[in-house]
Amino acid sequence: MSKFMQWMRQELEGIKAAEVKSNDYEVNDGEKVLGILADTDLQKLWVLRDRLNNQIVTLAKEYAHKIIEMAVEEARSGHNPATCEFCTIVRNHTTLNDKRNAIDTLFWTGLRLELSDEALVELYKAGGTIGLREDWKIVACRESKSSPLATLLSFGLPIPIPI
Ligand SMILES: [Zn+2]
Repeated sequence: MSKFMQWMRQELEGIKAAEVKSNDYEVNDGEKVLGILADTDLQKLWVLRDRLNNQIVTLAKEYAHKIIEMAVEEARSGHNPATCEFCTIVRNHTTLNDKRNAIDTLFWTGLRLELSDEALVELYKAGGTIGLREDWKIVACRESKSSPLATLLSFGLPIPIPI
């Protein structure tokens, strides 16, 4: 099994039933409830997605405090990417971001596939953007499901912020 599949399985298996929670965003005006997400596998993907988002934000905050220090290290002669703190953080961030994007795609694809044909028609009429609200309500919404990519401190690396 690939390292990615193994990682994903372990993460999903490690999520306890009590940790499986929806977000608490209310259904906004103009949003239409298309159904309820009842599938546990997808609910766990949501939790994992949320965890990865939090890890990315935490990592960004950590390196925000060290940016000057790291720039100095980077400019030093004899810079070694294998031991450089900055390069290590960038590598970790890239890996986290890749995992987050993969889980994000799995989740939203899976969510869309849960919908009935009637709900898909409603989604299409609303502009095609799917969202998740409190108590696992699946909604058709006009705005994007995630906020624009923030550039907290992007060294060319976008930091996605969960909503
Ligand atoms: Zn470096």
